[in-house]
Amino acid sequence: MNLNINDTFLKELPSDPINENSRRQVLRACYSYVSPRKTKAPQLIHVAKSVANLLGISEEETQSQEFLKVFTGNQVLPNTTPYAMCYGGHQFGHWAGQLGDGRAINLGEVLHNNKQWAIQLKGAGETPYSRTADGLAVLRSSIREYLCSEAMHYLGVPTTRALSLSLSGDEVMRDMLYDGNAAYEKGAIVCRVAPSFLRFGSFEIFSARQDPKTLKTLVDYTLRNFYPNCELNKQGYIQFFREVSTRTLDMIIEWQRVGFVHGVMNTDNMSILGLTIDYGPYGWLEGYDKRWTPNTTDTEHKRYQFGNQSNIGLWNLLKLANALYPLIEEAEPLEEILANYKTTFAAKYLGMMKAKLGLTTQNTDDIKLITDLETVLAKTETDMTIFFRNLAKVSKTLEVPVKDELSFLSEVMDAFYKPEELKGEVLFFWKDWMKRYVARLQEETATDEVRKQVMDTINPKYVLRNYMAQIAIDAADKYDYSVVGELFTVLEKPYNEQPEAQKWFAKRPEWARTKVGCSMLSCSS
Ligand code: AMP
Ligand code: MG
Repeated sequence: MNLNINDTFLKELPSDPINENSRRQVLRACYSYVSPRKTKAPQLIHVAKSVANLLGISEEETQSQEFLKVFTGNQVLPNTTPYAMCYGGHQFGHWAGQLGDGRAINLGEVLHNNKQWAIQLKGAGETPYSRTADGLAVLRSSIREYLCSEAMHYLGVPTTRALSLSLSGDEVMRDMLYDGNAAYEKGAIVCRVAPSFLRFGSFEIFSARQDPKTLKTLVDYTLRNFYPNCELNKQGYIQFFREVSTRTLDMIIEWQRVGFVHGVMNTDNMSILGLTIDYGPYGWLEGYDKRWTPNTTDTEHKRYQFGNQSNIGLWNLLKLANALYPLIEEAEPLEEILANYKTTFAAKYLGMMKAKLGLTTQNTDDIKLITDLETVLAKTETDMTIFFRNLAKVSKTLEVPVKDELSFLSEVMDAFYKPEELKGEVLFFWKDWMKRYVARLQEETATDEVRKQVMDTINPKYVLRNYMAQIAIDAADKYDYSVVGELFTVLEKPYNEQPEAQKWFAKRPEWARTKVGCSMLSCSS
């Protein structure tokens, strides 16, 4: 492998002068040098060839011993010095102080085809930021991160990528449910790839520590490398904040479009590039329930529930604004950007939902059509993915009957978990909504066929349903990686029909309703 190493982070930013790998507060530095841990019996499970391609690694090279060793932390690439990044963060609404890469180790940056990529191993051992934990990751959470980050990419959602998934060959102790029943699990390592892994918390830490010098060095680095149209002055810093706000908002709109719930939108998990980052206890909406969160650590307050993600995005941006304030020293322009967020979000959300419904023209009643749809979808458990995908089959000539017949819902019938509940008030609401929807479709010039084609590029057929990842995990735990491979392939083309994959276009099976790992996930990983 001959990677074109081009380390900007190390060259342009201050390092921790202490080289010893002990847990501590690291001051006035953006990173600490660390060595990945040697693992007992590394084994490659899966490689994302298109990501290898981004880095200039050929398919043949992905099968080499060198690839295996490098991307499991057992061999350091020539001309590189691995490091862990220092950052802080607000967790569940409270300032948590220094966090940092507790179990992520950056190998370096690669420049290929004029694009800059940072490469990072997750689960490769402890760092000065590991606090009380071990720096390792288990197979189940690594499969979830690997499959989901690539699935999100192919869905068109901004995200970090994943190059490879490997077993370390070591055992890792975890108390999965935090109930005192700790057990050994298989250790694993995911290699993640992104232009940068900087987070909101990377900036917060320096303002919290009243270190404007390092803050400025880091902001200037970020602008030079990732926001080149922002000048290195107050106006440029304001523009930077505006662009981060836009990217964050756009990313969350995409989450809402595909039914993704991040689960832990702490400021240390918010990318400064507006990428989905840190796939932990995330989940996919099955029933269209805005209050749903997969994260069992958050069941009480549901801070990170599906319907609250845009508000949390704004809250996190407020924290970032506070962090940047020492360089700007003017509250007004930052407040104005934050004030615009809500109206911009509402407008973009409307546009996104209209696209999901196949509506392209203007009609002032569309807001009501959409809010009423969201109300009726929640009246009886209705699968989000199946509903929107199949809605494209509804014809503008559909006749909605006055009598209590269900045939007008036949195209979307598969989406209902309990079709027997389609009666009385619920049926009344559906009839009313479908009648209005069909009338609204008649205002559109596109034919049914054309509209369906367009809608099928917006409403995915295949997402990584919570139970699908769990099936892949259960098989992989028995050394069968075929499901990981199968899901990876299906999720590379989420908008295509793929008749051979039809079984994954199905509602969550009943066994998965309450199974741990499917609908309930803790932060243990
Ligand atoms: P998360 O909620 O997964 O984003 O993690 C929050 C913080 O805890 C980050 O600083 C992580 O690096 C750290 N962390 C999570 N799991 C581990 C682990 N097993 N070992 C060391 N640090 C960890
Ligand atoms: Mg994190």
